[in-house]
Amino acid sequence: MVIYGKKTTFAALIMSKKKTTTTGEGIPYEECSFCGRPNDGMIPFIYGQNGLICKNCSDLIYRQFKDALVAKRQSKKPLELVKPLEIKKFLDEYVIGQEEAKKILSVAVYNHYKRLNYSVKKMDQEVEIDKANIIMVGETGIGKTLLARTIAKLLKVPFCIADATVLTEAGYVGEDVEAILTRLLQEADYDVTEAERGIVFIDEIDKIARKSMNVSITRDVSGEGVQQALLKLLEGAVVNVPPKGGRKHPEQEMVRIDTRNILFIAGGAFDGIERHIASRLRAQTVGYRKESDNLEDIDRDHLIQYVSPPDLKKYGLIPELIGRFPMLTTLYPLDKVALKRILLEPKNALVRQYQQLLKIDQINLKFTPETIDFIAEKALEFNLGARGLRSIMEVIMTDLMFELPSKPQEEVEITLAYAEERLGKGLVQKIKNS
Ligand code: ADP
Repeated sequence: MVIYGKKTTFAALIMSKKKTTTTGEGIPYEECSFCGRPNDGMIPFIYGQNGLICKNCSDLIYRQFKDALVAKRQSKKPLELVKPLEIKKFLDEYVIGQEEAKKILSVAVYNHYKRLNYSVKKMDQEVEIDKANIIMVGETGIGKTLLARTIAKLLKVPFCIADATVLTEAGYVGEDVEAILTRLLQEADYDVTEAERGIVFIDEIDKIARKSMNVSITRDVSGEGVQQALLKLLEGAVVNVPPKGGRKHPEQEMVRIDTRNILFIAGGAFDGIERHIASRLRAQTVGYRKESDNLEDIDRDHLIQYVSPPDLKKYGLIPELIGRFPMLTTLYPLDKVALKRILLEPKNALVRQYQQLLKIDQINLKFTPETIDFIAEKALEFNLGARGLRSIMEVIMTDLMFELPSKPQEEVEITLAYAEERLGKGLVQKIKNS
């Protein structure tokens, strides 16, 4: 840093001692540790432990810091835009099925990052593009988190998962809503500008729906306070975030994060929402019937696909919050075929992972088609979505993974009989409880 022609470093400045000189009349005075200007009472000085600084120098330093900060923000490279079709192709490598959700996510994320680059370049901003936060509805274990996580991997932006169930309104037992951003900040290695363009996945958003019955006195009773607090983050505000987490308190050091460009993706199972969908559809078709509204056309087994904002409101989300998620999409339950594909096809499919692990021990691992069938059927039976697959695989494979490295052999095939025997050993209950 060069100030008034003097080259100096911060360390040197901090270390420099107060210089006391005397005037011609022998009266002692001190001088600015930076420029040497005498503290003759003409301009204000700030005293530190080991030095002092005049107003001119402090103004100059303030301007330099401010410029450096602005330059850092503007130097953020625009994100490389990936077209929706390419985003979807990437998602296809990891996520089986869920075509509609993939398309909606791809478009929303593409537009979001277009919007981000657009604001970085400061092009003529006559039309402001709104943020398109997304809400995904679908039962547990069918790919909501996986979709969000995979998108973040592609875009190389910080990503974090926040569990809405632990969030509470300030003053109640639990986590402040701002804790979500603490996690994002940590993911971004405390680089605020990087965190400011990240993705936050809010899991189990349905759990903060307003309840008609008071269920707890330690948690925000209605759930509405949490929704209100969340609104602020979603709307785009500068939020004070405790960098080390924990509840906010007055003496804590805070980091300011602007949430304007953070993309929020929420997911929830919304158990029982079909009831609201059905009654809305019934009301619509009874009210006035158009040819296209034929009740016969409704797929009653998968009512969830017709979910729309009024159903979320009936479920207990406040309209303002719903309004902050302009994109709404549904994920479908996974059938046996999808579960089998999940076992085998994704880049990090479970079967591939086990094969890779044993390959390192020079063992070729195989599963018979009947075994794959059996695992998918069991997962369906346990009703845990694809999450059940991992638990079942673990039960089948644990003993082998323990023994095989010490008993090297060229090939091991997992047969239906072996899988059935492993699952039969009272372990089914363990999976069901997992
Ligand atoms: P949730 O819908 O509850 O967020 P997750 O996305 O966390 O479920 O799914 C749990 C695990 O199940 C994932 O980590 C992944 O291994 C597997 N999985 C779930 N759905 C799919 C899918 N559609 N395609 C591939 N794997 C999936």
